[in-house]
Amino acid sequence: ERLVAGEADALERAAEAALRPRSLADFVGQERVREQLAVVLDAARARERAPDHVLLCGPPGLGKTTLAMIIAAELGQPLRITSGPAIQHAGDLAALLSGLAEGEVLFLDEIHRMARPAEEMLYMAMEDFRVDVVVGKGPGATAIPLELPPFTLVGATTRAGLLPGPLRDRFGFTGHLDLYAPDDLRRIIVRSAGLLDVDLRADGAREIAGRSRGTPRIANRLLRRVRDYAEVRAKRVVTGPVARAALEVYEVDALGLDRLDRSVLDALCRLFAGGPVGLSTLAVAVGEETETVEEVAEPFLVRSGLLARTPRGRVATPAAWAHLGLAPPRSVVA
Ligand code: ADP
Repeated sequence: ERLVAGEADALERAAEAALRPRSLADFVGQERVREQLAVVLDAARARERAPDHVLLCGPPGLGKTTLAMIIAAELGQPLRITSGPAIQHAGDLAALLSGLAEGEVLFLDEIHRMARPAEEMLYMAMEDFRVDVVVGKGPGATAIPLELPPFTLVGATTRAGLLPGPLRDRFGFTGHLDLYAPDDLRRIIVRSAGLLDVDLRADGAREIAGRSRGTPRIANRLLRRVRDYAEVRAKRVVTGPVARAALEVYEVDALGLDRLDRSVLDALCRLFAGGPVGLSTLAVAVGEETETVEEVAEPFLVRSGLLARTPRGRVATPAAWAHLGLAPPRSVVA
């Protein structure tokens, strides 16, 4: 139900796939990560060997899957895609790894949600390209070593802090993706408009960029919604005022906050007098999973200076009160 974040349905995924950049050169922004990755890939090509394993960290929608696809494409290798929650037993992982061909790229999304025993098997696979497959149970169990072809693991996580040290250490390169600057988002939107054949004017692109929560996935979604609106209400031309009017219809406000963001702020200010309040209490108050509040809403609220994480809990800043049009309690003003 959320326009701005949340699970994409099949249609959304198809629309998203159509807009994915296919090469590092097409990937907008994140200069540091792009440059570092280019070096990793060039070195691997020069050595004619699979590159080091790559870990990509950052909030949802910033391009982790896209980069994994680009890595495989730049290496001329197929990409295998799986995710942490899909690997609940070491056996799942063993089957997957033993099916890889030499040089193949394995993308493991949400790597922090993989089951513990699988995680331990992954350590060995990453380091020695070998796994021990345990056959049987109890005292009669035997470990059969299985050689693996060299492969490249691209792990992605929204929570680098949740990864155990030994796993983090086995990645040769870690790229941290940050929320995008408005000008990068604007370039992404202009590129997508070209692909979608949308008549987008400069002020329209700026308006959408400013409301995209620093996130390319949201920028592309908002562009598609604005295009719908322009088709039926504005002779198909997306100007600044058209974009603004469209986004108001979809309840995206001037800061790009959507309904979840606003309900988090609203609960924080109205129910908990601006905090400090614990994350899980706040999540219950808005009827969402703790993870959703922490990984989807919070990074942008913190980045926007609306919410602060303190040792005693979440706190609304004076800007949050102002944004909600509420008078802050005295302690906040002081
Ligand atoms: P993640 O895996 O981090 O959740 P994705 O890689 O699926 O994010 O990206 C979401 C969408 O945003 C994709 O449609 C992709 O085309 C677009 N996107 C992400 N990063 C960029 C970028 N740097 N340049 C252009 N488009 C991007």
